[in-house]
Amino acid sequence: MAIGVQMDYKTKCSVCGKGAPSLLDYRCPSCGNPLSLKLQIDFDRSKIKNHDFSVWRYAHFFPYVGEASIVTLGEGWTPLVRFSKNIFFKLENLNPTGSFKDRGSTMLISALHKIVKKADGYVSEDSSGNAGVSVAAYAARADLTARIYVPEKVSGPKFSQIQFYGANVAKVPGDRSTVAHAAQRPEKKKFYIGHILHPLFRDGVRTLAYEIAEQQNWEPPDRVYVPVSAGTLLLGLKEGFSHLFQSRIIPSIPTIVACQTTQVSPLYHRFKNLSYIPPTTIRSVADALISVNPPLLELMTKELQKIRGEVAIVEENEIINAFRELARTGFFVEPSSAVAYAAFKKQTRDGMISKKDKVVVVLTGSGLKTTLEPAR
Ligand SMILES: [Zn+2]
Repeated sequence: MAIGVQMDYKTKCSVCGKGAPSLLDYRCPSCGNPLSLKLQIDFDRSKIKNHDFSVWRYAHFFPYVGEASIVTLGEGWTPLVRFSKNIFFKLENLNPTGSFKDRGSTMLISALHKIVKKADGYVSEDSSGNAGVSVAAYAARADLTARIYVPEKVSGPKFSQIQFYGANVAKVPGDRSTVAHAAQRPEKKKFYIGHILHPLFRDGVRTLAYEIAEQQNWEPPDRVYVPVSAGTLLLGLKEGFSHLFQSRIIPSIPTIVACQTTQVSPLYHRFKNLSYIPPTTIRSVADALISVNPPLLELMTKELQKIRGEVAIVEENEIINAFRELARTGFFVEPSSAVAYAAFKKQTRDGMISKKDKVVVVLTGSGLKTTLEPAR
């Protein structure tokens, strides 16, 4: 049996359906399209480790990680706080590196670090944002070398954080796709584990759905709002809720609302069958939402249609107002996270939400990383 092929899960191509033989694969070996991990065991509440207050309370549902291989910084089991009567915030900003990405990194690094070490190799990732930060931290925890490829002119708190974790930084001239290309270029001892394409990263985000359901006593919300850029949060969340629904743990899948900015809204346009021409320069305060042409766009569209999800876009002033309102009520998140709250407010104003609807807004990242000035 090839490495990574088990009875309880399968890694399959999202387009041609062919299986991928190794946990290291991040593209279909036949057609090059994105891979998805499909779990073949039901969710069973009796398998939860009730005394583990991290994503690893759900370790049973991640059968590709052996217990002795777990690399953790205590990620997950973040608070679900009541904001007002039916509105809850999921505080993903409180994860160890300050964003939801830690759910993906813990899974990815736990699954692969021994294979990489055995080959005396290092891992590569392309991101100067929260994902680069998170991968750098988990690689550090696993005593693994990480090389993070970033655009040449990058700066700011997230870039500093990547360097503090001790990652090796490769600055690449050119646009975002040139950076991705450089990170993926095969080199001796290099293992590319880019968060956008790697199915195990997305798979770790399933835990977010499990937590939201469990923290609401298995009566999940009617609507969940998430910001969407590359799609890992949206796809992982959808997969988690689908798994709970198919296992008859929850009665229905919440309406997932994929929230974007007017400037960067490829999913919004694709979902509504509208043409999308991104601006030549993106000047949004939501600086974590910059994927104008995300590699997972078709997969996101297909999966969101399957569960009858929704899309929403918000203007810059709506994002800034939402960011300020959150901060002034005690929730200090990055402006990109405020996009989801802004979209919720807009839909409320437009009468798209019933007052009875139970709503969860996922606050994805910490405000401590923002470059905004208070006077703005
Ligand atoms: Zn394929």
